[in-house]
Amino acid sequence: MLTACYLCGTPLELPFSKEHLLPAGIGGVPTSRNLLCGPCNNGLASDIDDGLIAQVGYLYRLVTQVRPNIPDDALTVSYLADGTKVEFRGAMRPRIPINIQLGDMKPILIMADKTEAKPAARKILLQIQKGRPNLDVDATLENLVMKEAPEALHFFTNGYSAMLSKIGGPDFFRAIKKIALNFYFHHGGEMSYVQDVVQQVKLGQPAPSVISKFYYPTVRPVHQLAPQEMSHVVKLVGNPDWGVLYCYVELFNVHNALILLNDHYTGPPLNVQYCYDLLQKITLEKDVSLPACFREDMTDYFLVTSNTQPLVEVAYKRTRDILYHLMRGKGLIK
Ligand SMILES: [Zn+2]
Repeated sequence: MLTACYLCGTPLELPFSKEHLLPAGIGGVPTSRNLLCGPCNNGLASDIDDGLIAQVGYLYRLVTQVRPNIPDDALTVSYLADGTKVEFRGAMRPRIPINIQLGDMKPILIMADKTEAKPAARKILLQIQKGRPNLDVDATLENLVMKEAPEALHFFTNGYSAMLSKIGGPDFFRAIKKIALNFYFHHGGEMSYVQDVVQQVKLGQPAPSVISKFYYPTVRPVHQLAPQEMSHVVKLVGNPDWGVLYCYVELFNVHNALILLNDHYTGPPLNVQYCYDLLQKITLEKDVSLPACFREDMTDYFLVTSNTQPLVEVAYKRTRDILYHLMRGKGLIK
């Protein structure tokens, strides 16, 4: 167990805090203890998570809509830079992305039916205005950026609301690396093998020694999905014989990433996994298998260099079908 915060080195004190291996904003539940000090957990680490939540958090918000005990017409929209939560209700018919730029805040991206775009944006802006009286709603509406979305981006036009965003980039992989580090330290990993990764996560700068890639294997699946499973999967493998330490992170069974944490690993063998089903809210026991291989092999085998788009679309379609099915069951859509 860690005795000091892995980001800043501050000694960790009793009583142990409960912590999230995966960010709460994507459906992670507290499953670990004392990985980070309070200031890092609420500051830097939280900022890092925000980069991921901004990209895939909408999927979790859709999951919460189809689960029990959530009001059918409620959608909590929580993406302001200052942490302000904006709750948006209503029956929008999302079709096109609307980008709302608000100066010091992160841009807000919503989808709405073309004819409903401005009224929908106005509703959200009026919500925001409650906490920011100086916000000029009309002037902001004048500057709305609306554009036609490609068909592939329409998959969550569920009659309520949706966000969409691009996946990937430095912020995405920084947050994925943090998940990998959380998992590694949670399982008693030593700092010496992941020093480079910690520095990357801490400073936000890429380093060539740590490879991070989307991973959509075509040879064989990493695990078998149950018919209505929607899960997060984390798998950590450390193999001193082959000298590699790597972590696989799969979010919503859609976004799959592989992080090579160390290519000169001499620590103890590690083969641990975590799988959490977001719909059933249970931990799944299943066979998740990644092959052990040399770093050189990794470059060939692990790193998909071809276009992964078709595989991503298949994964998305599956996720969409499950959500549609559940939404129909709740009478949210016809
Ligand atoms: Zn700290």
